[in-house]
Amino acid sequence: MECDKCERDAVMHAGYSGAHLCEKHFCASVEKRVRRRIRRDDLVPRDASPEDPERWVLGLSGGKDSVVLAQILDDTFGRDPRIEILALTIHEGIEGYRDASVDACVELADDLDLRHELVSYEEEFGVRMDDVVEDDPEGMAPCAYCGVFRRDLLETYAAEFDADILLTGHNLDDEAQTALMNVFEGDVEQMAKHFDASLGPFDERTESPHFVPRAKPLRDIPEKEVALYAHLKDLPAHITECPHASEAFRGEIQELLLKLEEDHPGTRHSILSGYEEIASMAADRYRGESTAEMRECERCGSKTTRDVCRKCRLLESLAV
Ligand code: SF4
Repeated sequence: MECDKCERDAVMHAGYSGAHLCEKHFCASVEKRVRRRIRRDDLVPRDASPEDPERWVLGLSGGKDSVVLAQILDDTFGRDPRIEILALTIHEGIEGYRDASVDACVELADDLDLRHELVSYEEEFGVRMDDVVEDDPEGMAPCAYCGVFRRDLLETYAAEFDADILLTGHNLDDEAQTALMNVFEGDVEQMAKHFDASLGPFDERTESPHFVPRAKPLRDIPEKEVALYAHLKDLPAHITECPHASEAFRGEIQELLLKLEEDHPGTRHSILSGYEEIASMAADRYRGESTAEMRECERCGSKTTRDVCRKCRLLESLAV
C-alpha cells in the first residue's frame, strides 16, 4: 500500500483515521501530535524566558514510551533556552530487568546530552522489589507496592529538583485502560485525582511542597505507534516484561480495549476524551474538599489525607 502523502510504501495503517503512512510521514505525524498536545496543555508558559527557564523532569524508565518522549522533547526543545530537561530513572531492584533498562537510559541520556539522575528503592527505602515479592506480609500484588513507591520517588525528586512539571510517557492505551478501570471500579475520587494531576489548571494546585504538576504528552499516541516510532528511529528502548507484572485487571481491560478497537476503530480516543470531561467534573467536586483535608505525613512530609501516608504504611508493613 502506498503512503497517503507521497509515493513511498506505507509502514503503518491507522484504523481510527484510515491513514496509510510511510516512515517519514508516520514519524512526522507522531511528532506533530505530541507537539500539539504540549501546546494544548500549555506546558510552555507565555512568560517562559532564558533568564528563568522552565525545568521539566522526565520520568525515564528505559522502556519505549519514555525513550520516545525523551527523543521528541529533545528534538523540540533541546536548543530552546527557555526549557531545561532533566531525566530521572527509578531503580526498583528487580534482577535481570531494571539493570538493562537503566543501561538504555544512560545510553539515551548520553546521546541527547541530558542531565540524568538515578534513584533506587534500596537506597531510598531500604527495600528491593525482588525482596518485597518474597516477603509480602500483606499478600498484595507486587505492582501495588511498586506503584506507590515509584510515584513517591518521582514526586519527591521532581520537587527536590525544583521541577515546574513532571512528565511521564503514558500513551493512549495506558490512559484509556486507566480510564476504564476507574469507571468500572466506580472510583470517582481517583478520576478527580487523575484530572488534577495531569490536566487541571496549575494555579489551583495544592500548595504542598511535594506537589509538581504532571504532564503526559504521549497520551494521544497509541502504544503500537510508540513502539513503531522507537523501532524506526532505532532508539535504545528496553522491551522486556517485568517478571513481577501482576495487574491482572489491567490485562483484562487491555484485551477488551484491543478487541473493541479492532471492531470499532477510534474507541480509545473516544474513551479518553469522554473521560477527561467526566474527570474534570469530578475534580471540581473534590477539589475544595481534598485540598482542605490534605496534610503532611508525620514521617516523611509527603502530602496525604491521613497522619501517615500510604508509602510509609507499606514500608512499615515490610518492617523497614
Ligand atoms: Fe513495578 Fe509492577 Fe511495573 Fe514490575 S510491572 S516495575 S512490579 S509496577
